[in-house]
Amino acid sequence: NENDFEMKVNIKVVPPGPKGKKIVEEDTEYLATSSKSLPIVAKRGRGVYIQDVDENVYIDFAAGIGVNNMGHIHPYITEKVQEQLFKLWHFAGTDFYYQEQVDAAKAISSVTPGKFKKKVFFTNSGTESVEAAIKFAKVATRKQEFISFIGAFHGRSQGSLSMTASKGIQKKYLFPSMPGVEHVPFPNPYRNIFGIDGYEHPQELTNAALDFIEKYTLKMYMPPENVAAFVVEPIQGEGGYIVPPMDFHKKLRKLADDNNMLVVMDEVQAGFGRTGKFFASEHFGVEPQIITLAKAIANGLPMGAVVVDSKLDFPELGLHSNTYGGNLLASVASKATIEAMKKEGAVENAAKRGKHLRQRLEELKERYDVIGDVRGIGLMQAIDFVKDRRTKEPAVKLRNDVEYKGFQNGIILLGTGESAIRLIPPLIITDEQIDEGVECLEKAIKQSL
Ligand code: PMP
Repeated sequence: NENDFEMKVNIKVVPPGPKGKKIVEEDTEYLATSSKSLPIVAKRGRGVYIQDVDENVYIDFAAGIGVNNMGHIHPYITEKVQEQLFKLWHFAGTDFYYQEQVDAAKAISSVTPGKFKKKVFFTNSGTESVEAAIKFAKVATRKQEFISFIGAFHGRSQGSLSMTASKGIQKKYLFPSMPGVEHVPFPNPYRNIFGIDGYEHPQELTNAALDFIEKYTLKMYMPPENVAAFVVEPIQGEGGYIVPPMDFHKKLRKLADDNNMLVVMDEVQAGFGRTGKFFASEHFGVEPQIITLAKAIANGLPMGAVVVDSKLDFPELGLHSNTYGGNLLASVASKATIEAMKKEGAVENAAKRGKHLRQRLEELKERYDVIGDVRGIGLMQAIDFVKDRRTKEPAVKLRNDVEYKGFQNGIILLGTGESAIRLIPPLIITDEQIDEGVECLEKAIKQSL
């Protein structure tokens, strides 16, 4: 097969090579708001590997930003999409029925947390899932305002952007977008405004964050009778892979319940097995009433979904709708992705390999003072670079250098937050492949010091 290549890191020319450079130049000329992190021009993918146009082979520790959880060109998922490719692509799932969409909804309901009856609404991205969830929460509660968290990322359309607070450029040019949204501190164990060491005193940190909401936000200027929902990630993704204390989400839900508010749980980045459970909410013992999904839901075909507790009260109206939602190819890919995950024990693999990756990263932390923090759950891990371990001052340039040097040494890395790098390989990775990746990462760190 002409698309096959040897699946092993192999850098033939220092990337970006000549073919890659040319395409990068054209891209910048023709594509609006082009701001790519790395000048890699990908051509083929297989499993955990990517080959570029100059024939270099990289190990992929970004997985399409947490999308290709079952690896690139997974045989079973590809076969199912290929079968569908010759039947029907699109017939407007919002207005007409198809079996494939119902099957995908059943499969998604079967793996999302909660034994209660759920309904699935299909979208085309994480942003649109959040956008739809905002509307659902407004209608279900007949309230208009929202509370989300500093460091949050929920998308960049006007509504979802209002919930986002992790990208400075948006604050500079695009705020305020939707009125009636406030951001409150997320209980970040490593760096927080409360001056609490959240690893040593997790409950104290949870209480400080919730006290802030209860005694300040809800009491002083956002009365609960106006607030429809909290919008929150189980683990903050773009904000730097921040894992809150384990009691946080349960207590947040209680605060919401006590005040007749909902919690919209944004599992777009942490969901679909990434953390070693099907959904990150499960680690925290919560069963969200509204969950937003996308990214790994169809292993690379564009799809998103909102899963709601069917008990929520929605009047019959075209609350949210779209032309492509639940597209046939994406629906088939989603069902096949979930089937493959179950058949191959991908979630269990993420838990086991996650432990191995974590151990290897802790070893790096012992060897390099510039790594201030290692954090995450399962195969959702990050290392945070600091100028000084005591002050925890972010080493932004160093982080960027490591990302670039990693690329030249054969590993695809993506930054997150101010000074961290996320490590999110496909869930099908082996311990040997993790070692191969960590070796590339260590070379990159050494060359960046
Ligand atoms: N929510 C979260 C938690 C995300 O991480 C992202 C994307 N990084 C989004 C929403 C937006 O998803 P999309 O890019 O598919 O619109």
